[in-house]
Amino acid sequence: MTALKKGPALDRFRLLAAVLVVCIHTGPLSVYRETADFWLCRVAARTAVPFFLMLSGYFLERDGWASTGRFWKKTLGLYAAAVLLYLPLNLYCGGYSPLEWGKRLALDGTLYHLWYFPAVLLGVWVARGLLHLGRPAALAAAVGLYLLGLGGDSYFGLALRFPAAERFYAGLFQLFSHSRNGLFYVPLFLLLGAAGKRWSPSVSALGAALGLALMSAEGFALRALGWQRHDSMYLTLPLCMMFLFSLLLSQNRGEDRRARRLSMLVYLLHPWFIALVWAGDRFAAPLVEHSLVRFAAVLAASFLAALSLDGLRPLPIPARSRVWREIDLSALRQNARALQALLPRGCELMAVLKADAYGHGAVRSARCLEKAGVRAFAVACLGEGVALRKGGVRGTVLILGYTSPELVPLLRRWRLTQTVVDEAHGHALADRGRPVRVHLALDTGMCRLGVPAEDTAALERLYERKELRIGGVFSHLCVSDDLERQAETDAQLARFHRAVRSLRQRGLDPGKLHIQASYGLLNLPPQPCAYVRAGILLYGVGSGGSSVRQWPPLCPVLSLRARVACVRVLQKGDRAGYGLEFQAARKTRLAVVTLGYADGLPRNLAQRGGRVLIRGRVCPMAGRMCMDQLLVDVTDAPEVQAGDTATLIGRDGGAEIPAEEVAERCGTITNELLSRLGNRALPVYRRDGERPASTAF
Ligand SMILES: *Cc1c(COP(=O)(O)O)cnc(C)c1O
Repeated sequence: MTALKKGPALDRFRLLAAVLVVCIHTGPLSVYRETADFWLCRVAARTAVPFFLMLSGYFLERDGWASTGRFWKKTLGLYAAAVLLYLPLNLYCGGYSPLEWGKRLALDGTLYHLWYFPAVLLGVWVARGLLHLGRPAALAAAVGLYLLGLGGDSYFGLALRFPAAERFYAGLFQLFSHSRNGLFYVPLFLLLGAAGKRWSPSVSALGAALGLALMSAEGFALRALGWQRHDSMYLTLPLCMMFLFSLLLSQNRGEDRRARRLSMLVYLLHPWFIALVWAGDRFAAPLVEHSLVRFAAVLAASFLAALSLDGLRPLPIPARSRVWREIDLSALRQNARALQALLPRGCELMAVLKADAYGHGAVRSARCLEKAGVRAFAVACLGEGVALRKGGVRGTVLILGYTSPELVPLLRRWRLTQTVVDEAHGHALADRGRPVRVHLALDTGMCRLGVPAEDTAALERLYERKELRIGGVFSHLCVSDDLERQAETDAQLARFHRAVRSLRQRGLDPGKLHIQASYGLLNLPPQPCAYVRAGILLYGVGSGGSSVRQWPPLCPVLSLRARVACVRVLQKGDRAGYGLEFQAARKTRLAVVTLGYADGLPRNLAQRGGRVLIRGRVCPMAGRMCMDQLLVDVTDAPEVQAGDTATLIGRDGGAEIPAEEVAERCGTITNELLSRLGNRALPVYRRDGERPASTAF
């Protein structure tokens, strides 16, 4: 099993699952043997829908069910499109009463295969509701619901022997037309997918095979007993699915978005082709009477239609085509854990995500940090705060900079916490007449933002404003990165703690306190505070230069990469680039790399000994950096060719160019270097355990 090459197994299985659904609706083997067709369509193919449900549960779990709302809206959109798509068929077949139509729309789907959508829409909320009970209880409840569903499905004959059960199901079928629905059927598979239980590949394969064998025995037994009202729920189905899903997970690497789209399109479109093939029945009866031919025709037509529809999509631009920032989310999470380990009891990390998380992508970084238990975030401005909320980030979001008082409604709408930058700002915010969450900034010596720490009268006046919901008091240190200047930092700390004491003596609650940023955390003893506002360290690098008292185990998160556009050969004495600054001292191979200063790297880097990694080799930059291109001397790396990946920051093979080195060459700090990489270099995120994707196109 381990010898198998891993690939996007989950996405590829979607295609097979879509084929199985087409089987269910066309009965390909019915001309040959009734029993064979029963096994294929009523037993084996019954794995298809649970697979889709487990997949949804698996992905919902991966981001902590934070995307449930988005998932629901997307499913609703697809359902709406499908309802419209099948409206002509509905009309042709003759309508239901408006009441019946509404009921079907909400519970059963407006055409037979569309039951899936209302079932998922209901089931995802049921599953999420159950999760509030805790995982084991939720799973137990979902199993209970599934067992109830069985009684209305393949064990109906058994249920009918008990009058109470008979009445229960009779009542149920007034509402739903099947017990295979969002209440009894969907939650269990969503939760099993979310649990994502894994066995070794061989155990999984064995389990899946055994599960399928048991399910076959169960199916044929039930058929012989004549108990089935419907045949999509088996006692052994969840068991079989757990092993099958585990097997797929063990072989899964990467994704195949096209397979995803095609399987969905085939699922959506195939009933139309069934209808059309049946219509063709009148003209070519001998052809379509053959069940296998009918199946093949429907399948081929559905896939062709899906392929052509998918082909209409505008071609996406691959992120790795020119310049990209590779963000290693597992490194980010590891760094958060390493910093959390330095915090005293009762003190939490406030992740500083300003400037798009120092060029790392604020929303993705925040969602990743949430998984490491981070509940508080800081941004520079209102727009950044709103972007986090729109990305589904919960918890405290503190705006560290100025926000115009006119924007109080937006602060409220997005539940953001605003910094009061001085006394006048605080009153102006309060004058809008609506409650607003704030933290008070105290100026303890930096002379940037904040009410002077000694100005008790000003602080008292702010506390009198009922509109200001003061949840915290903080300050910022300006020389904490310099161990030689400890006295100045100590003076700032003393002013801060004195101001806090004085507030408390007056019976005013300062709320959450915070004063340390990254270097304050490294160089100061633990402070009696609620937060440490960490920025640069989260991204796994130091600002550069200064010595520190302690250094936790951190791992750089960002790599900056580009492509080699072409390679050219210069003879000794030839010149190249703007100002013809580069002159070949020998026969030279120059690689033109697809990155320039407009991508965020400082222009002076090329003249200050900047280096690039290509094929694991260190190659010097040559001449002046252009806006969109860069020349690199690859004479000593003869294997370099067009299309190769060039690394400007990060690792390639055994070699590394740390962000600190680049910043130092350019005479700046990593904070500036990284936060400028935002606009043209596309982000590429890497999750846990994923290897960097192949560098080929
Ligand atoms: C940017 C910023 C931080 C984070 O600083 P790092 O040195 O990157 O940790 C913390 N507090 C305030 C007020 C900031 O402006």
